[in-house]
Amino acid sequence: MGPSMKSAKKISSPALAERMAKARRIVENSASYKICEGCDSIVVSNVVLCPNCHAYRFDTEDEHVVDQALKIGAREQRSVTADDLV
Ligand SMILES: [Zn+2]
Repeated sequence: MGPSMKSAKKISSPALAERMAKARRIVENSASYKICEGCDSIVVSNVVLCPNCHAYRFDTEDEHVVDQALKIGAREQRSVTADDLV
C-alpha cells in the first residue's frame, strides 16, 4: 500500500523536495555537519572517514556547510549522499 520511498529516488521533483528538506535541516543544524574535502559531500560531524571517498579531511566551518547544503538543495547531484544522512 502506498508509494515506496525507495522508488521515489528516481523521480525528480519529489526527490528534489526531499533534498531541499534535508538541506534545510542541515542548515538549521550546521554545527552537526561537516564537508568532506575529498568529494564535497556533507557528512555528520562525528564521522572520522568519509563514507563515500574515505577521505579524512573535513571542512567544519558552519558557513561552508550551510553554503554546501543550499547548493545541494538547489540542484540534483547524484554524487552527494544526502540520503545517507538521515
Ligand atoms: Zn568524501
